[in-house]
Amino acid sequence: MTTPTRVLVLNSGSSSVKYQLLDMRDASRLAVGLVERIGESSSRVAHTPLEGGGAERRERTAPIADHAAALKAVAEELARDGLGLDSPELAAIGHRVVHGGLRFTEPTVVTEEVLAEIERLVPVAPLHNPANLTGIRTAQALRPDLPQVAVFDTAFHTTMPEAASRYAIDVETADAHRIRRYGFHGTSHAYVSRATAELLGRDPSEVNVIVLHLGNGASASAVSGGRCVETSMGLTPLEGLVMGTRSGDIDPAVIFHLQRVAGMSADEIDTLLNKRSGLVGLCGDNDMREIHRRIGEGDPAARLAFDIYVHRLKKYIGAYYAVLGRVDAVAFTAGVGENAAPVRAAAVAGLEELGLAVDAGLNAERSEGARLISPGYARVAVAVVPTDEEREIARQTFALAGGEVNA
Ligand code: ADP
Repeated sequence: MTTPTRVLVLNSGSSSVKYQLLDMRDASRLAVGLVERIGESSSRVAHTPLEGGGAERRERTAPIADHAAALKAVAEELARDGLGLDSPELAAIGHRVVHGGLRFTEPTVVTEEVLAEIERLVPVAPLHNPANLTGIRTAQALRPDLPQVAVFDTAFHTTMPEAASRYAIDVETADAHRIRRYGFHGTSHAYVSRATAELLGRDPSEVNVIVLHLGNGASASAVSGGRCVETSMGLTPLEGLVMGTRSGDIDPAVIFHLQRVAGMSADEIDTLLNKRSGLVGLCGDNDMREIHRRIGEGDPAARLAFDIYVHRLKKYIGAYYAVLGRVDAVAFTAGVGENAAPVRAAAVAGLEELGLAVDAGLNAERSEGARLISPGYARVAVAVVPTDEEREIARQTFALAGGEVNA
């Protein structure tokens, strides 16, 4: 019998499931896809087989009631390409789990006890952990014989010193409710900081990197010698940078003010800060491409949104520079970080005294892989490093399932 080498990675959100099937002999992708608008009448399944067979991308709209039905749709799509989940070549299923609290510092093979702990963390991740749990339970039902591995967004940040992870509030209250800064996007920060060291031709243990993960959600981290020492997201993914729809840092008194003066409920303020703030709250658009286009047309609201976004980013670069003391590289990643050259240029503009500069020509280039965009003379490397959370989850899952990754 051949040794199983495939890993299915599932990223289950509240109304979507993103998936990738990888072959861990070389970490190549066999298929990627997405089920979205779960629970609505017009759910969408988009599936792209990547290697072998040469099949085309398929898309269909159909009502998909819940996560169990979504996973069934995934299994059917994969089976059509001869990659069915009943295959003996499947070694394990890896799950992105958003909140692992303090307990989960490493990827973990799922047991009933692990599920119970993820459940216990629902109050600190009410939007994400329930969906992640449903994804795991559904996958377990489908292949009860396979190891299911949970890879936590928070794990990489558990090395933060208490000086960075504690809020300055009453300790008893904080501890009773597990209130502290956990940080998110950890899989991406771990992967990108390591890939940046590789790009510099150095061992991760030797370098200090500021990672700027700028997607729809956005976070910064300060990584010293491969360990996270500070990150911008906190108890929830609301703290820190300006994001697509989230405010990031805000005076907490704004919340009481809105309750007392505007008569808003806690849920309404939650929605305001998580869904109607950030870029979308400032100018109506959360897509940086659209914001660039509007700025080109002289739109003042888009300009201001961009300026506020970049101002916050620059403040964090400065703060993390101070936290690290010495910085070897600043790495931009995720949708905005990898694609939006104007954001990168503006974020480091004027920081030459800190050894930071961007070469306009290099910054404007596009490429698939990791690359430097700082001029040769700059003391600190500025890099664009595409993130790959799914491949990292697959790598960690396969390693835990006893496989050896060559790529
Ligand atoms: P997430 O995984 O958090 O949903 P991504 O990392 O995919 O987000 O980033 C999505 C965001 O990236 C989009 O909302 C958009 O603002 C930005 N983006 C994607 N492509 C480009 C581009 N070519 N130029 C500028 N911004 C881009």
